[in-house]
Amino acid sequence: MTALESPHEVDCVIVGGGAAGLSAAINMGRMRRRVLLIDERDRFMWQHVAHNLLGFPDGVSPADLRRIGWRQAAKYNVELLLGHVASATRQANEFFRVTVERLPEGGAWAGRPGPSVPRDPEIARVFSQVPEGEPLEVVARTVILATGVGGHFPDFPGRDECVGKSLFWCIHCDGYESIDRTVAVVGHSEDAVSTAMDLLEFTPRVTMIAGRAEGFEVPESRLADLAAAGIATYSCGVAEFQNRDGQIQALVLDDSGRTRIPVEQVYTVRQTVASNGLARQLGAEINPIGQIVVTSEQHTNVPGLYAAGDATSLHDHQLSAAVHEGNQAACGANYYLYRPAQK
Ligand SMILES: Cc1cc2nc3c(=O)[nH]c(=O)nc-3n(C[C@H](O)[C@H](O)[C@H](O)COP(=O)(O)OP(=O)(O)OC[C@H]3O[C@@H](n4cnc5c(N)ncnc54)[C@H](O)[C@@H]3O)c2cc1C
Repeated sequence: MTALESPHEVDCVIVGGGAAGLSAAINMGRMRRRVLLIDERDRFMWQHVAHNLLGFPDGVSPADLRRIGWRQAAKYNVELLLGHVASATRQANEFFRVTVERLPEGGAWAGRPGPSVPRDPEIARVFSQVPEGEPLEVVARTVILATGVGGHFPDFPGRDECVGKSLFWCIHCDGYESIDRTVAVVGHSEDAVSTAMDLLEFTPRVTMIAGRAEGFEVPESRLADLAAAGIATYSCGVAEFQNRDGQIQALVLDDSGRTRIPVEQVYTVRQTVASNGLARQLGAEINPIGQIVVTSEQHTNVPGLYAAGDATSLHDHQLSAAVHEGNQAACGANYYLYRPAQK
């Protein structure tokens, strides 16, 4: 890996190298802008394969999609940097200053419990890195935040092996994989109730567990709807997600009888948490559930600052939405960079 030197000056910094960030990078690169994409994810712990993305009839894993994106971005001279963007400020209302920290030895997941997944070997070939010592300073005229979200799943031993194999969160993504399976939905909100009801399109064997001691937060009439549809409900938390080699086998409830419910698949329906720290630092508007507020052209309220993908307020997010939003953000940022006579 080559190391970049401070201050590194570019037209556009893209924070986040998922579908949104890579789509933005490819499109900015094709506008012949100097682009630096920074990402801190250096390994893939989840087994998930997306089956609903146009162009991939056999499905595509996030890791493979990124590898394709790296190669495509490289064709347009996009620089890829492995590192953690620790801070971002807007200077003199004209440009952004972004500070990038080197990842700890062993990578962003060093010391984390879970499966021991090695760093993707292609990263060393296609990514630059932050030199040892001081963080890297990057100066940019525009910034696109494509920082994604977290919090889809509760923590439990073996969780990372289960994600995408027997643990899901989105029926639109994975309902098809649940045909005729024994499924539990864990969640207390109306979204969780709808997920349970909608799963009946795929399988008749659906159970619902609130997943917290306080029980459900939906009206009694909704619990009656579930009962009428043949969905058993348990108004308690989950004490144990019993699993082996990525396969969830049963849920043990934290009720008085420690009820054990055998299952093949679990959907957890929780409010995800947008990675919005940099957006907040830059003064971008954030909505009450933490998403970065953008227009349909991906502008934030801060001139020169755009956001795309899961971290934004626009859609119920999917890979296709992230790709689209990245493209839109690039169009917006490129337009912002035009000289007045070009506009
Ligand atoms: C288990 C699972 C299954 C899914 N299945 C499907 C599916 O089948 N079909 C489908 O269409 N969609 C699916 N989705 C949704 C889809 O994956 C997301 O909508 C999409 O990945 C969003 O892309 P993104 O670029 O916005 O965010 P991400 O892909 O999350 O990328 C954000 C990146 O930003 C990086 N980052 C954040 N902060 C910083 C920082 N400060 N410095 C450096 N890097 C940073 C993160 O490390 C990450 O690499 C699934 C999601 C999950 C979690």
